[in-house]
Amino acid sequence: MILDGKKVALDLRERLRETVLSYTEQGFRAPKLAILLVGNNPASETYVTNKIKACREVGIEAEKIALPADVTEQQVLEQIQRLNQDDSVDGFIVQLPLPEHISEPKILNAVSYRKDVDGLTPMSMGLTIQGQPALRSATPSGIQSLLAYYHIPTAGKHVVVIGRSNIVGKPMAIMLMQRPYLSLPNMTASSMGDATVTVCHSKTQGLTDICRTADILIVAAGSPKLVTKEMVRPGATVIDVGINRIEDSSSPKGYKLVGDVDFENVEPVAGAISPVPGGVGPMTIASLLQNTVQAYKQHIKQ
Ligand code: NAD
Repeated sequence: MILDGKKVALDLRERLRETVLSYTEQGFRAPKLAILLVGNNPASETYVTNKIKACREVGIEAEKIALPADVTEQQVLEQIQRLNQDDSVDGFIVQLPLPEHISEPKILNAVSYRKDVDGLTPMSMGLTIQGQPALRSATPSGIQSLLAYYHIPTAGKHVVVIGRSNIVGKPMAIMLMQRPYLSLPNMTASSMGDATVTVCHSKTQGLTDICRTADILIVAAGSPKLVTKEMVRPGATVIDVGINRIEDSSSPKGYKLVGDVDFENVEPVAGAISPVPGGVGPMTIASLLQNTVQAYKQHIKQ
């Protein structure tokens, strides 16, 4: 079975559009997301354009704040303070990566956790670890929603996560091992937890043997064809988070996007698998919108 992230994300976005409409029809203002983009990394520009388009389709107002590559760290911090205080903004993200002269942890530390719709600040992560209400990391949330949509249970299952980044691997492992957080609003994915989780990384020994014990294998390494069919137990679920550009002379762009899984050979073995593109990527954007609507609901209640 192919886990069609594009379709599931569309479904989620349609539900968010209806939610937003139900608020604006009552006379509330529309939700607003701001995106801080520093420099002119072409991949980041594309991601930001896609996020803005997705926001507008569900009725979220979106504003891009573009800062030049040579902006100082202090100037970025000032923008963040302004956005933290701006009452018309419900959530904002700082598009990563940042130019080298700007400290990513320092910038993320400055974002108010109430508006942290990427779920990447230490406060959001801390609340997540404790199982308290928080805006949760967007990519792992998207993966949980994808599993929930296809009724793939995680309770009692062995999940192997490859990758230990703050953006994907670590929050994914924490969210899956947690007791399900039942009081989170509008999240069927919140019932996804209770798994036994193993985290693997670049220094892990015996990766193949560990992966073969997985009921669900989640791969976020950034390494094309890292996962081969020998690493997948027949019938297991495989979630491919990787986005890698590889040369492709037949494409007009000269490259194509592939994941971390040798899709062609793993797909016949796996019980379910998410493709790249069209798997986790669209779910991440849908989760960002979901977090924005969640932040908005909290904000207008205050
Ligand atoms: P990262 O580079 O910060 O972390 C990669 C992790 O993989 C590290 O913890 C490293 O130890 C581990 N790793 C690398 N090679 C390995 C190997 N051979 N064996 C075992 N472990 C290995 O990356 P990240 O930010 O977590 O992103 C991972 C991938 O996911 C990238 O391709 C990125 O583009 C993609 N990504 C996709 C989305 C999405 O929405 N689809 C979101 C975030 C990241």
